[in-house]
Amino acid sequence: MIKQIIFAAVLLLTLGILSYSFYRIYQLFKLTRPAFKIADTGKRLNKLFVVAFGQSKIFRWPYTGLLHALVFWGFVVITIGSLEMVVDGLLGTHRALGVLGPVYDIIIGSGDVFGAIVLLAILVFIIRRLFLNIKRFKGVEIKKKSKQDAILALTMIFLLMVSLLGMNLGYYGLAVSESNIEGIYPVSAFLFGLLPEGMSYSQLYMIHEVNWWAHIILIFLFANILPYSKHFHVFTSLPNVYLSRLTPIGKMNTMQDVKAEVEAMMNPDAASEPPPEELGSFGVSDGEHITWKNYLDSLSCTQCGRCTSVCPANQTGKKLSPRKIMVDTRARMKERGYQLIKEGKDATDGKMLINDYITEEELWACTTCNACVIECPININQPELILEMRRYLVLEQAKAPGEISMMLTNIENNGAPWQYSPEDRMKWAE
Ligand code: SF4
Ligand code: SF4
Repeated sequence: MIKQIIFAAVLLLTLGILSYSFYRIYQLFKLTRPAFKIADTGKRLNKLFVVAFGQSKIFRWPYTGLLHALVFWGFVVITIGSLEMVVDGLLGTHRALGVLGPVYDIIIGSGDVFGAIVLLAILVFIIRRLFLNIKRFKGVEIKKKSKQDAILALTMIFLLMVSLLGMNLGYYGLAVSESNIEGIYPVSAFLFGLLPEGMSYSQLYMIHEVNWWAHIILIFLFANILPYSKHFHVFTSLPNVYLSRLTPIGKMNTMQDVKAEVEAMMNPDAASEPPPEELGSFGVSDGEHITWKNYLDSLSCTQCGRCTSVCPANQTGKKLSPRKIMVDTRARMKERGYQLIKEGKDATDGKMLINDYITEEELWACTTCNACVIECPININQPELILEMRRYLVLEQAKAPGEISMMLTNIENNGAPWQYSPEDRMKWAE
């Protein structure tokens, strides 16, 4: 009973802090603009199963991709075991899901094997981060905190797997001595064979209990660190894939206010919706102009750098890094959002997402090739934000590189991007 009470108190504390963190993030979502209606459930589920659960994009990098996919699948299976621990902890039961019989054997058996696989994969990731000079892990947007985040998360996952295997090992030893075993434990049974012979019941009990508590407390700690780290994607990547943009890659968003205004002017009877009384601002210049999907993208970015590594602008030495667009958007939203919440909608700190975080040079370096979108393992759309920021520069600030300004002027004056008068169009025929 004491164990149940302590467990319930720890769980309550965990959920309380986690709810507060999620509430703070929800407050920032409330500041964002609408994106799209969430329809097409079938297509979205298909994306979820292929891209998220199937990890289809991650395999473009075969070796590290396979390791990442194994870690993801491992987490999915191990999470079921963690839920069982919560039930056991609260109700004082023992292996509550054992009633599932053979299904339970498969879940626990694969969790035990994945525990070892994830442990090895994480060791490889730690070695890669600490000792190998990998270009993808570098960039102006990768700050010291981000590197510390990565090492902290990897260390915690490593300890989670050690405690999982320790717990299984202790349980296996106890269960064998009582001839009453639920689930199968291929790795832990092997590890048990390596222990010195003649371990007492109380020693095995201690191994199990210490690792059980260590494992569950690490899970609770990890969950509460995630909202403040770059690893928040553990929570958001599945929803982000489900909520992928379903419009063709590269299609620019229509400005609905302008569309309604033009429709009302051209053909008021056929207008799909009434024109707005007042046109809002065009494009994105700061945190409050982004859509909920842009913000979800930025929260979900794992900072893996796959997008930047295929970006032709970045690869040819330009300042643009699509990963930086996501990192900067998240950082600015946090700074600007809480300021707006605290001081009201007219508050200003003299900064903007454009210029103070993302420069015009970066924005105009984008070729809109969409290689970053294709590469991103969780379907983030970086060019959408880039184009919206360009939209702000052109429509609100009348700012564009010389060639584009000239082209726009020509379209305005000549009805074509060239400098020639429309009357001269047929001259080529002569
Ligand atoms: S769309 Fe822009 S940001 Fe993305 S890869 Fe192409 S050039 Fe880079
Ligand atoms: S946007 Fe996607 S590909 Fe780029 S760093 Fe973030 S998660 Fe990785």
